[in-house]
Amino acid sequence: MIVSRKPLSFWERLYLPAIWGGFKVTLRHFFRKKVTMQYPEERWVVPPGYRGAPYLVRDQAGRTKCVSCQLCEFICPPKAIKIVPPGPAPDPSTGNVEKRPREFEINMLRCIFCGFCQEVCPEEAIFLMQDYSLVGRNRTEMVYDLDRLLALGGVHQDSIRKWQQKGREAAAQEAFPTQP
Ligand code: SF4
Ligand code: SF4
Repeated sequence: MIVSRKPLSFWERLYLPAIWGGFKVTLRHFFRKKVTMQYPEERWVVPPGYRGAPYLVRDQAGRTKCVSCQLCEFICPPKAIKIVPPGPAPDPSTGNVEKRPREFEINMLRCIFCGFCQEVCPEEAIFLMQDYSLVGRNRTEMVYDLDRLLALGGVHQDSIRKWQQKGREAAAQEAFPTQP
């Protein structure tokens, strides 16, 4: 079956009206408010409480807050966290307090940014930051190790000075007050 086409009119054969129609659409959008974001030079401002990538933090003294309790490793739904428990304390003066993990890895390809690790952490050592843009050239680069997680997490200003003997004694006194 042959479908007959409507023959083009004189103006349609000129093509100029169609070209002018296209220009009109272009000009209309040219003067409109720009909505395209020039990423990565421009970034989204994420709202407070945004759950981005989880990183480890240090306290004011530069010490690793994580004590390798492995609660986050246990709770993590996609098993993105891998922790190797600590070796001997690097600084004997801190006694039994310093339990920095020997290894701590988060596989960012597995992480679903659920925030369970932050919620469960008893030391406030891991926080979901506002970093939503994670890139790597291969899978190995997307597994963040301890040093990288600490570098990205930075310092967390803490009210508890557990490293200081005086602070520990005061905290113990508060938790278990001596009877008069
Ligand atoms: S945010 Fe959730 S998925 Fe990601 S490491 Fe923490 S517990 Fe695991
Ligand atoms: S980040 Fe927190 S929950 Fe995870 S091992 Fe360290 S102290 Fe425990």
